[in-house]
Amino acid sequence: MTMTTDHQGELDLGLRWRNSFSQLGEDFYTRVTPRPLRAPYWVGRSRSLARELGLEPHWLASQELLEALSGNRRIAGTEPLASVYSGHQFGVWAGQLGDGRAILLGETGAGMELQLKGAGLTPYSRMADGRAVLRSSIREFLCSEAMHGLGIASTRALCVTGSDDPVYRETEETAAVLTRLAPSFVRFGHFEHFSYAGQHQQLKTLADYVIDRHYPDCRGGDHYAGNAYAALLAAVGDRTADMLAHWQAVGFCHGVMNTDNMSILGLTIDYGPFQFLDAYQPGHVCNHSDNQGRYAFDRQPQVALWNLFRLAQSLLPLIDDQELALKALEPFKTAFPVKFDDRMRAKLGLPGGTAAQEDDRSLIDSLLHLLAQARVDYTIFWRRLSHGVADGNPERVRELFVDPAGFDAWWQRYTTRACAMSGKLDAKLMLQTNPKFVLRNHLAELAIRQARTRDFAGVENLLTVLETPFDEHPEFEEFAAFPPDWAHSIEISCSS
Ligand code: AMP
Ligand code: MG
Repeated sequence: MTMTTDHQGELDLGLRWRNSFSQLGEDFYTRVTPRPLRAPYWVGRSRSLARELGLEPHWLASQELLEALSGNRRIAGTEPLASVYSGHQFGVWAGQLGDGRAILLGETGAGMELQLKGAGLTPYSRMADGRAVLRSSIREFLCSEAMHGLGIASTRALCVTGSDDPVYRETEETAAVLTRLAPSFVRFGHFEHFSYAGQHQQLKTLADYVIDRHYPDCRGGDHYAGNAYAALLAAVGDRTADMLAHWQAVGFCHGVMNTDNMSILGLTIDYGPFQFLDAYQPGHVCNHSDNQGRYAFDRQPQVALWNLFRLAQSLLPLIDDQELALKALEPFKTAFPVKFDDRMRAKLGLPGGTAAQEDDRSLIDSLLHLLAQARVDYTIFWRRLSHGVADGNPERVRELFVDPAGFDAWWQRYTTRACAMSGKLDAKLMLQTNPKFVLRNHLAELAIRQARTRDFAGVENLLTVLETPFDEHPEFEEFAAFPPDWAHSIEISCSS
């Protein structure tokens, strides 16, 4: 593939573009043009994602692509648009929202849609400026790729470009644009939008579009009396259960699980005030704007179900049978605990499937209780446990507990359970399940401070470890260390 520009200054990336979302019709979006950023520069780039997309890595060093992904130049074949959606925010119906700063360019041959987040005003910007700041763009960039590295379903991030153009939040900051990708950016809120407005024809168009493209198995089965929309609800519930189980197991707190931030594909989307737990505190609230603790870490599964109820309500005109809609919510309820236990078993190196035991749940619960009591660092605990099992020596795990007696008793029970299954805990599985590296708040903060001086080495180094977080990366040991004391005082809010 070659990269050329034509006479109008359009950039031809040699990629094939499809624009299926734009074919839904103008009730679904408004055509917009990304707004330019002055003198953009590269902040972070994922070469591995570029490869996956079929872009030669050197394209990510080109001035032309830098300009295009900063909104300064059109990419041939794209049809930029902002989509409309609504949603419930913090439990309250918020009415119309929409892509206020994310602009969908189109869909590449690889089946990925590409959005520029922070590319300027759209009709859905409401009172805001259509921009994103450097700090939040770096956080989203790194976390998207970190989640992918952890095997957690997420939108992806190709790059961040920055500019010295000022953006005003609590203080003056600078602008950035994140290029993010997903097979679809449709949210629960898209369905809510048409349903609440009584636009049932559009609701059906949207549901059929999502089913045809992403959930073809929902048609033709006899699971939900042949009702494809009930089957869709159930399938979304199952994927959402997967995502939540994974979040809970790894200690990830999203922070703003509003229905407009819930992907219809069960992808982690819209990274704002997220946090990976440092010390294990089940009730931890990572979003400084969340005064009620609605999105506390341990409430997230329940909130996901609440959000699925809103989706069910929105789909009701299509499902047309309340009993069936309620039945289609069951898979989340039954799947979540099973998926969570499976993930926790893997973290413990215990077998799943038929070898799972009834009292594994109580083994997991008692461990989590101990971790909470002693506020043990969640990531370090699991990594040390994995090495402890590999080496047959729990001493470094034991050190994490102020009063190790409780841990000793638990270890005894854990190893007895192992003996019951012929003495073998699967240390290899544990080391591939319990990451050495997660994007802790303070790590992101340090990379951001450095990036503000136009030094992007911190972003690059973090990306390196987060892409393969189960590898040892001995040269970056400091990224796996305990958080410093000042990490507790970092306040991350919805401001972005
Ligand atoms: P969020 O809390 O980031 O999920 O955003 C909620 C809604 O506000 C979405 O419709 C966003 O597009 C919109 N929004 C957030 N920040 C901005 C901004 N700076 N400019 C325009 N719209 C925004
Ligand atoms: Mg959002």
